[in-house]
Amino acid sequence: MVFYLKYRPQTLAELDNTEVAERMAKYLSKPSIPHAFLFTGPRGTGKTSTARILAKSINCKSAKTPGEACGKCDRCLSIGKGENLDVLEIDAASNRGIEEIRDLREKIKLTPTNLKYKVYIIDEVHMLTTEAFNALLKTLEEPPSHAIFILATTESHKVPETIKSRCIRIDFHRASNSEILHSLKRVVKGEKLDIEEAALTEIARGGDGSFRDATKILEEVALENKKITLVEVARKLGSADSALQTKFLEALRQKQTKELLLLIQQLVRDGKNVRQFFIDLLKKLEELLLADFTKQKSEWKREDLLSAIEIFSRSFAELKTAVIPALPFELGIVEYSENVKLPAPTDLKPAPGAAFSPASVVSGNAGPVASKWPEILEALKPFNHSIVGVLRSCKPVDLSNDTLTIEAAYKFHAERLDEPKFHDIITSVIKKMLGLDVKVQVVLKKRN
Ligand SMILES: [Zn+2]
Repeated sequence: MVFYLKYRPQTLAELDNTEVAERMAKYLSKPSIPHAFLFTGPRGTGKTSTARILAKSINCKSAKTPGEACGKCDRCLSIGKGENLDVLEIDAASNRGIEEIRDLREKIKLTPTNLKYKVYIIDEVHMLTTEAFNALLKTLEEPPSHAIFILATTESHKVPETIKSRCIRIDFHRASNSEILHSLKRVVKGEKLDIEEAALTEIARGGDGSFRDATKILEEVALENKKITLVEVARKLGSADSALQTKFLEALRQKQTKELLLLIQQLVRDGKNVRQFFIDLLKKLEELLLADFTKQKSEWKREDLLSAIEIFSRSFAELKTAVIPALPFELGIVEYSENVKLPAPTDLKPAPGAAFSPASVVSGNAGPVASKWPEILEALKPFNHSIVGVLRSCKPVDLSNDTLTIEAAYKFHAERLDEPKFHDIITSVIKKMLGLDVKVQVVLKKRN
């Protein structure tokens, strides 16, 4: 974490999160500064850095314009290092108790030692006990004019409304790739790192919305390599993702509902992309299913694999209308591990027999392709394992005008099958087995 702390943005102008920087500039340029802020958002999105910048901006001795700290005076420097006695950082995760807040209420009356404003930064404020919240609220109701509060939280819904209503709320979203890139370039320049441009872009992507995670990745690859290449970065990212996936898969196999839900919570808290996580998970489940069909030894039960694939594919369809992105997957976990059948919206329900039923491949108008479908799937395996997994839930429905129509039960599957490389593989196998020149067309099964 050396780089992350060393290269924290020090001024508003350096803040990588442009939206937050603009909003803060507005508040700080006004003659009267709000007495309490609530910073909300996933970890690693710059809440603490921004809190310190705010402390500097209102206390700087030689600010050129209101709200823009110089970053060089003794006040700016001591606040930046976290060493100024008038800027107090309290971690509510480890100081949940009423004692700290009582202590705070006593000392807050005293005027600042060397700054204009005393600044209280309370990190993970949602962890405070009810009593501590009540004590804090009393302070927020009548704050001394020299005190500013910055409450930061990753879980704003756990902060009481009475507290929220006293604060100016600033939301920190997951950082965009270009914002992360902006912050990484500061490190590259400062440390004079030898890194390929593509490798840096890949690290920004791997940070997945978190400045902290991206900087940590950069620091680790910089320690391990003199010249940082895309290959090294890809290797590093692959191993971190697969560790989490392995943990999740094992909990899934053992149907540990609580563990699985906690892992999802962790993903969300860390600001990870839940959708991408499940795409990777489905790919892995497909591989396991195919391994099972080819009689490779596995600890998984085939029906569990089938049910997990079916349920999580459905979660993807529900994602579009979901209010909370993780929710369809959380419901999917409960449905799978607890064996609870949740009522699916009718337009999302897979057609009976559409998924993985060998009987579904015998169909009307697809002629020789339909009758040879199991053999065709078998012949496709050496080319691409995962596509066979997808095709098992699809059926050839029509063969006319040299066009083979394949019907997919899920939109997710239809989209994957529509990649040109898969069209090519399917047509070449059909040509080889049946001597037919066909074009492939993928359609989504209509719901009744
Ligand atoms: Zn200054």
